[in-house]
Amino acid sequence: MSAKIIDGRQVSAEVKDRVAAEVAEYVAGGGRQPVLATVLVGDDPASHVYVSNKLKACEAVGIGSVHHELPAETSQDDLLTLVRALGEDDGVDGILVQMPPPDHIDPDVVIAAIDPAKDVDGLTATSAGLLAGGRPGLVSCTPAGVIELLDHAGVELEGAEAVIVGRSNLVGRPLISLLLGRNATVTAAHSRTRDLAEVCSRADVLVAAVGVPKLIGADHVKPGATVIDVGINRTDDGLVGDVDFDAVADVAGAITPVPGGVGPMTIAMLMVNTLSAAKARAK
Ligand code: NAD
Repeated sequence: MSAKIIDGRQVSAEVKDRVAAEVAEYVAGGGRQPVLATVLVGDDPASHVYVSNKLKACEAVGIGSVHHELPAETSQDDLLTLVRALGEDDGVDGILVQMPPPDHIDPDVVIAAIDPAKDVDGLTATSAGLLAGGRPGLVSCTPAGVIELLDHAGVELEGAEAVIVGRSNLVGRPLISLLLGRNATVTAAHSRTRDLAEVCSRADVLVAAVGVPKLIGADHVKPGATVIDVGINRTDDGLVGDVDFDAVADVAGAITPVPGGVGPMTIAMLMVNTLSAAKARAK
């Protein structure tokens, strides 16, 4: 293996330390402690783990939290009432509704009810529009974490060939805007791309956000490229990414592992967003 490992756990810890110091400074300067409201509907075990990790991170960085746990049979209207009330609550700076909700609830309708000023997951049309327009706003946590990892690894983005595989609203599309904003030359590849290996092998920076285990092999990677693996796939062999790590690590210059790469960054960026929402609302 020749590639340098980009350690998401370490970068995530550094980001959280930075947020903790900024929260302390903000509060010492007379700011109100930022508060994140989390909403969890139903009893999906994975969602419970995710939310509890988010609440632990709040505590670790000095951000306050209020947690609302609703039964699986909660109606969409009752959930919307809560989300709107949190939007009107002056003591709440960020609203996080854990996705996905139960099947009878339309996630898009719920997202549309979130006050954009408190949209710390960066999911509302307002946040997406600001990002697409290159204007400041709250950026979806996983793509923001990808940029943080690239910066931490010292990867030059200006003028770089960046290829993103996947065009989801959650990851791929925001990354297109973020990388364009950093003056990379951006290509978005997806399920209809004709020759994926050929497109990917142009990349100085290759980001895989697909959800197909080990889709990206050594033949997709230019020697020395930086490879960021967003994929999290549960297989019989355990958790694997979209990148065939062992094969690609022999070719790439730097690579994120799964687990321990992009995954830990998401919660760290949620903390960044909650603090910045609090500061923006206080202005
Ligand atoms: P999605 O299913 O919404 O989108 C997948 C995208 O991949 C689509 O745009 C599709 O066009 C593209 N695609 C599908 N098959 C392809 C193929 N064979 N070749 C090229 N492109 C193909 O997924 P998502 O929400 O963007 O998530 C992608 C992966 O990232 C998943 O494994 C998910 O678990 C993971 N993820 C991780 C984090 C995290 O680390 N915190 C956060 C979000 C998503």
